[in-house]
Amino acid sequence: MTKPSAAPSRRRSVAVLGATGAVGQAFIRLLANHPWFALEELVASERSAGKPFSEAARWIGSDAMPPSVRDMIVQPCDPAHISAEIVFSALDSAAAADAEPAFARAGKTVLTNAKNYRMDPDVPLVIAEVNATHLHVLDAQRKGRGWSGAIVANGNCASIVAALPLAPIHERFGITKVVAVTMQAVSGAGYPGVPSLDILGNVIPYIKDEESKIECEIQKFLGSREDDIIRLADFPVSAHANRVPVEHGHTVCLSVGLELKASAADVERAIADWCGSDQVRGLPTAPERAILVSAQPDHPQPRRQVDTGNGMTVVVGRVREDPIFDVKLVAMGHNVVRGAAGASVLNAELMVHRGLLPDS
Ligand code: NAP
Repeated sequence: MTKPSAAPSRRRSVAVLGATGAVGQAFIRLLANHPWFALEELVASERSAGKPFSEAARWIGSDAMPPSVRDMIVQPCDPAHISAEIVFSALDSAAAADAEPAFARAGKTVLTNAKNYRMDPDVPLVIAEVNATHLHVLDAQRKGRGWSGAIVANGNCASIVAALPLAPIHERFGITKVVAVTMQAVSGAGYPGVPSLDILGNVIPYIKDEESKIECEIQKFLGSREDDIIRLADFPVSAHANRVPVEHGHTVCLSVGLELKASAADVERAIADWCGSDQVRGLPTAPERAILVSAQPDHPQPRRQVDTGNGMTVVVGRVREDPIFDVKLVAMGHNVVRGAAGASVLNAELMVHRGLLPDS
């Protein structure tokens, strides 16, 4: 067991934007009984605002809707209606474009899952275990934009699953190039998502804008912070994105070129031994291990392993030599938890733990 981090002196009030959607509901599951955060407000579109949550949302999943949110009245997407200091955003990108800066301007710390601001140089794109130091660009963001709040971004769900095992490889051996081929679950398209007649018994070799996101976000996660900016890692990434008939769990096949010569066994050991940033250990949403290496020859598999570490662990398998690159491997992680809501909640816990939130 990891030692729990000391609890903060008070619980922070939080809101969820886009609470009725697939990622919004994952936030609710994680926040309904959170030891550090008090879930006080739920926000969605005009279609849902004014209704009790149980009426506005179709609950996705086999668990029951947490009783504490059933009667909460869904609020409109306007900072004037929200008192919470931390805002977890599961808005779709069209709504996020104006809403998220408005919340940051109003003094809220916004942890976003939308694509809009991920590649802005003053917006940290963070996986807590990988690049927590990138959070230090927030001072420059607040100063430069004149905000009392801030925006902290999550990566695309497939980028996060790929970047986790690439982090120890880059740290130890240096990466020169990557090819990433994804097999992405239908829940990655939100609710109701991909029509069943398009995806059942099928593979769709196209997800709009996904490949370019994976290609540049991996470079940002594994880039370095230099004062107020993040310098992108300088290796090229080529991505192929495919939608497959899997409920939850994105699988990514990675072929990787290395600067330093290493065998597949060396690379597997580097991934297996990696713990990521010390700062994350013991935080309420941190899994025992961010990456688990499986020795089974037919792992990882989404149906069997997607909930490893409560959905926060990326399972890696099949680390082997590559005749064109140096090594290849397969990574799989829960797109809605590790790839979205869980990653944001962990980032917020890290910010509380490190004193990076304004003290209101
Ligand atoms: P979703 O199921 O379609 O949910 C979208 C949410 O946005 C709903 O709550 C919807 O509310 C709300 N919304 C839409 N238009 C709005 C508006 N004008 N004002 C306020 N709220 C509005 O989508 P999702 O899969 O949860 O994804 C949410 C975000 O996370 C997206 O930006 C997506 O790209 C990103 N993301 C998703 C995943 C994943 O695995 N699904 C992973 C990483 C990142 P109503 O119900 O009222 O319409």
